[in-house]
Amino acid sequence: DVLATKGNEFEDYYLKRELLMGIFEAGFERPSPIQEEAIPIALAGRDILARAKNGTGKTAAFVIPTLEKVNPQKHKIQALLLVPTRELALQTSQVCKTLGKHLGLQVMVTTGGTGLKDDIIRLQDTVHILVGTPGRLLDLAGKGVAQLDECTTFVMDEADKLLSPEFQPVIEQLLGYLPEDRQIMLFSATFPVLVKDFRDKWLNAPYEINLMDDLTLKGVTQYYAFVEERQKVHCLNTLFSKLQINQSIIFCNSTNRVELLAKKITDLGYSCFYIHARMPQAHRNRVFHDFRQGVCRNLVCSDLLTRGIDIQAVNVVINFDFPKNAETYLHRIGRSGRFGHLGLAINLITYEDRFNLYRIETELGTEIQPIPPTVDKHLY
Ligand code: ADP
Ligand code: MG
Repeated sequence: DVLATKGNEFEDYYLKRELLMGIFEAGFERPSPIQEEAIPIALAGRDILARAKNGTGKTAAFVIPTLEKVNPQKHKIQALLLVPTRELALQTSQVCKTLGKHLGLQVMVTTGGTGLKDDIIRLQDTVHILVGTPGRLLDLAGKGVAQLDECTTFVMDEADKLLSPEFQPVIEQLLGYLPEDRQIMLFSATFPVLVKDFRDKWLNAPYEINLMDDLTLKGVTQYYAFVEERQKVHCLNTLFSKLQINQSIIFCNSTNRVELLAKKITDLGYSCFYIHARMPQAHRNRVFHDFRQGVCRNLVCSDLLTRGIDIQAVNVVINFDFPKNAETYLHRIGRSGRFGHLGLAINLITYEDRFNLYRIETELGTEIQPIPPTVDKHLY
């Protein structure tokens, strides 16, 4: 069982009563393994580098200690939660609001693609916790609008993504606005080598957690189907008619292909939304919100939703285009099989993809089987 714990209870952490209420009202009965590891260490104020599987509750592992430590009486930004995408920022702020419902804290989301003026006005009022993407946060800190001199908690979720070359300089500048005694916490399911350099440069004797093992992809059954490029839509049609899809996410490798495929799926008579980074933010927010509400069964997307997105109703992930690397593959298929649920991942593999398939299988130490004529519905 990937969620087997040491048997701790949330009561063991001496959290504020209002916070415990929020946790239980969210339906959490006991901490997951990553929460058992991270919460006490985070409460003790240590820097953390935590690696744990997709869908095992990393968000609450940093949100709970953050909520505990923020003082509602102090009208200053006390925590920054950084994430790589706007959709994930919205989702993470929602977790803060749900778990922190009775704490009387102000949580604000700030991301690119929305009015900077609105954010500036909003920041004139009290904000305790700021959740956002790096570019906009740096903008606000640089302008002196977001004052971070008492921001002692700095969390990076999907930290390896945030340390990719496009983001890292922004992160380092942002850290310059924080006080010396800040606590830094990094979370992800994947930590490539580049994270080590950042750790050595910025973290203070970090406590390292690694909850990855050979069960990493357990719970998600993985299949492939060999197809020619021009047969892909036909193949998808067959999958739709045969599978018991609760909700599905279908990944393409480019924004153009996302739009084209969404149109074809709609033409086939299946309900379908699409989302990618080149759409206006308001539109993105609406699609994301409605899909989460279950308004539509299928969502076609680019790698925008590869990281962190948590929608429990998603039981099938389809790689209409096969990803280029193991890390992307791992995060994409991790959108199903969340928190002990089962999931199904189906990969459409062209002749050109075949070496990638073998390479990713080997790299992840996992097995991707040819799809059988009928897929056992108990598997997902
Ligand atoms: P990760 O970031 O590790 O991929 P998430 O933080 O998105 O995982 O959590 C996955 C799901 O598990 C979410 O829907 C969340 O509400 C749920 N969850 C997290 N912790 C608990 C818990 N202790 N008890 C029950 N459900 C939980
Ligand atoms: Mg996450």
